[in-house]
Amino acid sequence: MGALDFATRRRSVAVDVGGVVIGGGRPIVVQSMTNTDTADADATAIQVARLAHAGSELVRITVNTEAAAAAVPEIVRKVRGLGAAVPIVGDFHYNGHKLLADFQETARALDKYRINPGNVGPGRHHDDHFTAIVRLAVDNGKPVRIGVNWGSLDQAVLAELMDANARLAEPRDARDVMIDAMVESAVRSAELAEATGLGHDRIVLSAKVSGVRDLVEVYRRLAARGDYALHLGLTEAGMGMKGIVASTAGLSLLLAEGIGDTIRVSITPEPGGDRTEEVAVAQQVLQSLGIRSFLPQVTSCPGCGRTTSTYFQELARDIQAYLRDQMPAWRDRHPGVEEMRVAVMGCVVNGPGESKHADIGISLPGTFEEPVAPVFIDGALDRTLRGDRIVDEFKAILDSYVERRFPSVGAGR
Ligand code: SF4
Repeated sequence: MGALDFATRRRSVAVDVGGVVIGGGRPIVVQSMTNTDTADADATAIQVARLAHAGSELVRITVNTEAAAAAVPEIVRKVRGLGAAVPIVGDFHYNGHKLLADFQETARALDKYRINPGNVGPGRHHDDHFTAIVRLAVDNGKPVRIGVNWGSLDQAVLAELMDANARLAEPRDARDVMIDAMVESAVRSAELAEATGLGHDRIVLSAKVSGVRDLVEVYRRLAARGDYALHLGLTEAGMGMKGIVASTAGLSLLLAEGIGDTIRVSITPEPGGDRTEEVAVAQQVLQSLGIRSFLPQVTSCPGCGRTTSTYFQELARDIQAYLRDQMPAWRDRHPGVEEMRVAVMGCVVNGPGESKHADIGISLPGTFEEPVAPVFIDGALDRTLRGDRIVDEFKAILDSYVERRFPSVGAGR
């Protein structure tokens, strides 16, 4: 058995969210969240459908105002009208108990409610508001994610644990106590939800922080506290490369320990950027770890002094984009195509070898090499391309390989 045994998953209870199952040993679910104004039903429905089209298996929308709550049923209808069956989750803070009670159609239309126990209300209102949402979930047959976030950690729980820590002969450091408070907030809230009538198999827990080491520690402790299904994510991960790398590091460490039943990558998009990037990153994390396959993988070398033109980089980029663009159609027509491995290599040094290891590969001519590009299929030299149309010809070869290797469903019957 290897050091990283991804087959060994922590045992967790299965939670059905609108037909998508989180936990219970099922494939780890990729989810995402919109950043449109939920009150704008058109914009939100379009973004939900885009996220679903990109592969998000659950999509969460914030429900923060009466206008947002009023828009939810229309959003769900529009999303279904756009051909997306993805379950839609409502994210509630501060006023969720009121919105869900006042907008009954919204309470029915959503597939899951997310409650942040740090934001349900202060003091004596806390438990009343929390249990009011849970009762609405029970009445409407909905599961709930109890999502703790260190940016809004339940101050009563934190104060209680800090006071107890201060009385110790040798107090622990504040970080350690904060991590315990996050876990305690999640677990106590889950126990309160169950005491209110919500089934054990209707609860997903999360406890998100923005630091990788803290994240790993929080989830290790949370995982040890029971078999609740766990939603993993590094909160406020940041922008661009920083957010992607930090999320990947945190998620990978936990997934390698078998912890996590659903993941979200919370990266800040560029202004006007593509929200579906968070879906692509989550999928790539799972695929790079060999946990799930979503998209044919392109192996390409970094290039070096042997590839002095940009031609090789352009080809690698074009082939990667081409494969991603084809996937929505290929996914249904060619089952298994997501396992395909493609190599795009820069020169003769490692090109033919890496191409032979792939299902299909091309090795471009490096500087001063003869201007030919050998194509390898299933480990053997298939043909040699030359001239100005190498990219188009290689795409055509890819298409026919996919047709042959991953036959269309129903073909030949
Ligand atoms: S395969 Fe060739 S071009 Fe690519 S990094 Fe290696 S030596 Fe450089």
